[in-house]
Amino acid sequence: MKMIPSFSVDHTRIVPGIYESRVDTLGEELVTTFDVRLKKPNAEPAIAPAAMHTMEHVIATYLRNRPDWADRLIYWGPMGCLTGFYIIVKGRPAAAEMYPVLLDAFRYLSAYEGEVPGAAPENCGNYLMHDLPMARWEAARYVAYLESADQSVIFAYPEAKRLTLEDDRQFFDS
Ligand SMILES: [Zn+2]
Repeated sequence: MKMIPSFSVDHTRIVPGIYESRVDTLGEELVTTFDVRLKKPNAEPAIAPAAMHTMEHVIATYLRNRPDWADRLIYWGPMGCLTGFYIIVKGRPAAAEMYPVLLDAFRYLSAYEGEVPGAAPENCGNYLMHDLPMARWEAARYVAYLESADQSVIFAYPEAKRLTLEDDRQFFDS
């Protein structure tokens, strides 16, 4: 069996960021999948399932209601490993173009109050599994990270070279 492209990235070297994961052709159209990574894989706690679920609902609702992106959005959903999300969009925008949109989306969530959209038994397959306070906390943390991160690092997957222990230590000290 062939590895799918997102598994062939060296996950020991991924840091939180926004990465072009794959580009597919559908007829004449390009469709781009971005890896919206919030956690350093296998190196810090992943996002709790209930928070992840709420983040999925609130951000999907935000993106589907945003006039400039609603028509380009194909999919927004959580990674099974609970360290980030995938967003699939029409065309091939650069990761740097996705940055302001996603920053807005996570800012929106970080300040979100009220009912979680779609969290009713008629709309959701596990409507009791939500955690808005933790979803807001995770969103605020990611916003702070994205705002201060080195943009030469957060838009490109790392080369297939292992981090040294010293690099790891610097990541966690920062
Ligand atoms: Zn749901």
